[in-house]
Amino acid sequence: MRYSLLKIIKEGLTGNKGWRPIWRNPEPKKKYDVIIIGGGGHGLSTAYYLSNVYGINNIAVLEKGWIGSGNIGRNTTIIRSNYMLPGNEPFYELSLKLWEGLEQDFNYNAMISQRGIINLFHSDGQRDAYARRGNAMLLEGADAELLDEDSVRDICPFLDFNNARFPIKGGLMQKRGGTVRHDAVAWGYARGADNKGVDIIQNCEVTGFKIVNGVCKGVETNLGPISANKIASCAAGSSSRVMSLAGIKLPIESHVLQAFVSEGLKPILPNVITFGAGHFYVSQSDKGGLVFGGDIDGYNSYAQRGNLPVVEDVCEGGMALMPIIGRAKLLRMWGGVMDMSMDGSPFIDKTHIQGLYFNGGWCYGGFKATPASGLCYAHLLATDEPHEVATELTLDRFIHGKIIDEKGVGAQPNLH
Ligand SMILES: Cc1cc2nc3c(=O)[nH]c(=O)nc-3n(C[C@H](O)[C@H](O)[C@H](O)COP(=O)(O)OP(=O)(O)OC[C@H]3O[C@@H](n4cnc5c(N)ncnc54)[C@H](O)[C@@H]3O)c2cc1C
Repeated sequence: MRYSLLKIIKEGLTGNKGWRPIWRNPEPKKKYDVIIIGGGGHGLSTAYYLSNVYGINNIAVLEKGWIGSGNIGRNTTIIRSNYMLPGNEPFYELSLKLWEGLEQDFNYNAMISQRGIINLFHSDGQRDAYARRGNAMLLEGADAELLDEDSVRDICPFLDFNNARFPIKGGLMQKRGGTVRHDAVAWGYARGADNKGVDIIQNCEVTGFKIVNGVCKGVETNLGPISANKIASCAAGSSSRVMSLAGIKLPIESHVLQAFVSEGLKPILPNVITFGAGHFYVSQSDKGGLVFGGDIDGYNSYAQRGNLPVVEDVCEGGMALMPIIGRAKLLRMWGGVMDMSMDGSPFIDKTHIQGLYFNGGWCYGGFKATPASGLCYAHLLATDEPHEVATELTLDRFIHGKIIDEKGVGAQPNLH
C-alpha cells in the first residue's frame, strides 16, 4: 500500500475502508539470518536499511513491548548535526542528509520540519567556542551561521536578552536542524521493513543468549528460543541489561531524562532554542505546545519516570531564558531511560563474541542519529566492516584512549 494524494482523496470519498495495517503481526520463525533486539527507532531503521539497501530480508525485530514504546516515542524530536569532533560530525551530518530524503525514501509522512536550531551564547568566550564549532561543521559540509544579538532578537523577541546573569549575546544557527514527528519515524521504518518481509515481533522479550564456544547462535525469549546467524542488540536504555545476559559489561550508565509540554500557545518560537548558560532547550510544536527539557536525573535508574528536583532545575532554566514560560500551564511530562556512555558518544561495533553485535550509548541525542545509526549498523551486519563514518564508534576506544569527548553537546553522566 503506497500513500499518495490520489489514494487519500479516493479513501476520503469511499468511507476510508481501504486502509490496511501497515505491518503484519507474525509468529516468530525458528531461525533467521539476523535478529535485532529492540524495536525502537534504531532497531527498526537497521532492519529497514538491511532489507532495502543490503538485500537481507530474513530478519526478526524482537520488541519486548510495542513499537514506539521506548525512547523513539518519548524524545523531544530535535534533529541537528552541530557536532565538532571528527569521530562524530561526519556521522551526524550523514544522518541529517538521510532525514532530508527520508519521507520520499520510505513513503511516509514524518513531519520533518527543518525550522533551524540556535545554540545561544552568553559571553565572549562562549562565542569563540561556538565559532570554532561552526567552522568545524562547515569543514565537514554541514551548514552553520554565527548570529549576533540583533539577529537573534529578530527571530526570537520573547527571550530575556538583558538577563543580568546570562545576557544573550548571539547564537550558532544551523538552519537545516529542526524537528520530526518521532513516532511516525518508528511507523515509517516498521512499514518499510515489513514490506520487504522483515518480521516485527512485539511483546517478545529477549531473556538470554545461546552462546556455544564463543559463538552466539541465538536468543532465548518469552516466546521460546530463536536461532540466527547474527544477533544485533539495539536496546538503547536497556543496553546494559541486555548485554549483561551475554556476560558483557558496558561503559554505559542508565539515567532518566524527562520532557515537558505546555498548553498550546500562539506561535512564539519559530525554531529550536538551546540555552547556553544552563541546561534547557525548547521548541514549539505545530499544535502550539512548548516542548522542552534539560538535565538527566542524577541517579542510575531503569524506571521510565523522573523526580521533582530535575523538574525544578529545568523550569529554572526556562524562566532564566524566557520568563514568559512561567505564565503557561504545564500540560504533560514523562521520562525515558538513557544509555549514557562515558564520553557522550555512541557505539556501533562487533563484540568479542562472534555473531553478537552492539549498538548503543546514544545518551540523550540518539533520535537525530536514527537514520545514520540504522544505515551504519546495517552496513556492519552485512559486511562485517564498519561504515566509513562510524569507524571511531568502537567499544574498545576507552582501552586505547581514543575517546570522543564531545563536550558542549555531548552528555556525559559524570557532568550531571
Ligand atoms: C525525554 C527525552 C528527550 C529526548 N530528546 C531527544 C532529542 O530531542 N533529540 C535526540 O536526538 N534524541 C533525543 N532523545 C534520545 C533518543 O530518544 C534516544 O537516544 C533514542 O530514541 C534511542 O534509540 P531507540 O529509538 O532505538 O530507543 P528505544 O525506542 O528506547 O528502543 C529500544 C527498544 O528496546 C526494547 N528492549 C529493551 N530490552 C529488550 C529486551 N530484553 N528484549 C526485546 N526488546 C527490548 C525496548 O522496549 C525499546 O522499545 C531523548 C530521549 C528522551 C527520553
